[in-house]
Amino acid sequence: MSVIQRIPTRKSVVALAAMVLVFALVMLIGRGGSSKAEAPTQATSVIILSGDGMGIQQRTAIQYALYGLKKRQPMDALPYTGFLDTISAGPVTVTDSSAGATAWSIGKKTINGYTGLPPSKKRVPTLLDLAKDQGKTTALINDHDVTNATLAAFGGPVLNRDNKSLIASKEIHNGKVDILMGGNEAYWYPKGNEGKIPNTQPEEDASEGTKGNLVKKAIGEGYQYAYNRKTVAKLTGPKVLALVQDSAKRKWEDEKGYKYKKDPYYVPMVDLVKKALDIADDNPNGFFFAMESDDLDSAGHEHDVRNVIQSGRTLNQVVKAIQEYRKTNPNVLLIVLADHETGGMAIEPMGETNTNSDGDDPIPYWGKKALNNAGPKGQVPIRSGPVTIKGTHRKFKVDWTTPEHTGGMVPVTAVGPLAEELVGVHPNTWVHNVAKRALLGEE
Ligand SMILES: [Zn+2]
Repeated sequence: MSVIQRIPTRKSVVALAAMVLVFALVMLIGRGGSSKAEAPTQATSVIILSGDGMGIQQRTAIQYALYGLKKRQPMDALPYTGFLDTISAGPVTVTDSSAGATAWSIGKKTINGYTGLPPSKKRVPTLLDLAKDQGKTTALINDHDVTNATLAAFGGPVLNRDNKSLIASKEIHNGKVDILMGGNEAYWYPKGNEGKIPNTQPEEDASEGTKGNLVKKAIGEGYQYAYNRKTVAKLTGPKVLALVQDSAKRKWEDEKGYKYKKDPYYVPMVDLVKKALDIADDNPNGFFFAMESDDLDSAGHEHDVRNVIQSGRTLNQVVKAIQEYRKTNPNVLLIVLADHETGGMAIEPMGETNTNSDGDDPIPYWGKKALNNAGPKGQVPIRSGPVTIKGTHRKFKVDWTTPEHTGGMVPVTAVGPLAEELVGVHPNTWVHNVAKRALLGEE
């Protein structure tokens, strides 16, 4: 027996290690080939779920606070992961939600403020239009406002995202959007008509509709209308408009004595999504949903990590419900993404001071001191921490660099037909390409 056979030399160890590495690589490549998601068909459904303003730090904070270090949160447990750049066509370098969502919707970078329209301002088909042409059921769902920029990018093409009543009227025009659910009835009722949800604050929800009574119009066009838990539960479709209490979880933080769970006009987003799936399930051609947690972005603007986490809870509940649905209906492409990051949020250890970058809401109207912003000596405001990592005694706090959006890449996770196409780094317009092919049943 030679020495080499008994005692491996450095050289032979290196050779062995190289062989193992090559073998592992071959196995990986082989697995890559076989782990391709299933091919789309004419009946493939697509769900785009956005956490508005949810960058890597937000996703991580939600993971730590709600799921700890051992169990992966549902939105990050999806099998395919990539990154999207978020830059818009301008005029500034950092995108807003309208240009961000328009990139997904029409596959073109556009000007901040435009919803569903390219820089040329010429109307082009959105993913929702394409889905409708395929005979699919379409849905737009939000935890805040159904006329907000992200949903408008799919169903309410306008040149100014603040034209809320115009967006509302476009969303129900020709019955293009089958299922429209979320908050802010204010833009649907004309001035002086309080709507269905009682106002609890003098300045809250004062109707400011400029297009007449759009709820009445929607009912006239065949929409079932719901405004609280009871009426939502009774919806059968195929066309529904649910205008419920918006941002109830945030209201809970903002308004003394308000308990969202006891508010009959608050319907958890996950219940809206389950109802929408139930209605859309009747269509053999499949469906297209665009949904978002807008509250997550507001929480970032206000420098409030506790509300970021609340919104993350909502998103994970929705992903869980969709994954449950996919167990018996796997022909659904689910894409979880973000339009941009908000607040320049960073997870930091306890003990470090916070910067004095102010959020949008430095002293909430119900409070006396700054709950969202750092004190003069860099004290950590209570809305920035401490946050306990679930299942541990460890804590973190967050700091912020701006009350606005930031321009870094955002993560995207996906499951279902063509989901593997989102692996890698892509422009945000790539989402359109993949979703379109899935909707048309093209590989
Ligand atoms: Zn924003």
